[in-house]
Amino acid sequence: MSDAPTGPSARTTLRRGKNRAVYDEDQVKAILAAGVAAHVGVATDDGPIVLPMAYGVRDNEILIHGAVGNAMLKSGRNLDVCVTVTIIDGLVIARTPFHNSMNYRSVVIRGIATAIVDPADKMAALKIINDHIAPIWDTARPPSESDFKKTLVLAVPLKEVSAKVRGEGPVDEEIDMDGPHWAGVVPLTSTWGAAIPASDLRGTPDTPAAVLDMANTSAH
Ligand SMILES: Cc1cc2nc3c(=O)[nH]c(=O)nc-3n(C[C@H](O)[C@H](O)[C@H](O)COP(=O)(O)OP(=O)(O)OC[C@H]3O[C@@H](n4cnc5c(N)ncnc54)[C@H](O)[C@@H]3O)c2cc1C
Repeated sequence: MSDAPTGPSARTTLRRGKNRAVYDEDQVKAILAAGVAAHVGVATDDGPIVLPMAYGVRDNEILIHGAVGNAMLKSGRNLDVCVTVTIIDGLVIARTPFHNSMNYRSVVIRGIATAIVDPADKMAALKIINDHIAPIWDTARPPSESDFKKTLVLAVPLKEVSAKVRGEGPVDEEIDMDGPHWAGVVPLTSTWGAAIPASDLRGTPDTPAAVLDMANTSAH
């Protein structure tokens, strides 16, 4: 990553499946750009919790947001957190279920989450997070002052980051190769559908071009 050490840290070094490790900044960012949701993990006073969340990426940090009352986000402020983004590309069916697997692209980010408090910076971060969901920030109503105040935005540096990518067929044992059992891959592709207008949509507002453009495009 931009301000990262030249290699993985001790705790982001893949020990298992080392051949699947990816630390290249562009490849990591491509996975983050393709992902839709992040799982954010924090150790809290009443035990660990992992919650799925929207996210955005800016330069050398991943951004997450939520209500100021969000217990996990509050707990994670100034604490070590782990943010994981996973894309599943297929099911890998082996000759024995013990060797079943999945093809995937995943990123694990570990680091201290800090709150973004500067109003302009916070607004810029909110745009990035929301445009990662759907890029309508510039054409939709801006957040109200109250929405803005009620939202907590955290940034975690893209510094201690690892990615792992599996994209191959089953890895079976020689003993099974001449046996009767099937093996292969079932690919998983995700595509956005045509947008469905809200049931309470009043008048005839145009569907944003950015939303129209999503139809039939790959989700990942
Ligand atoms: C969709 C999916 C399903 C999986 N299912 C299983 C399963 O059922 N059982 C299983 O054992 N494993 C599964 N894995 C792999 C799992 O994520 C771990 O990579 C693996 O279990 C090795 O764990 P470890 O603690 O021994 O890793 P280590 O190699 O010891 O981990 C060291 C460091 O490597 C990095 N790292 C490890 N795994 C990943 C990863 N997936 N992505 C990015 N960085 C990583 C982290 O920084 C971690 O701190 C799955 C992965 C995905 C994406």
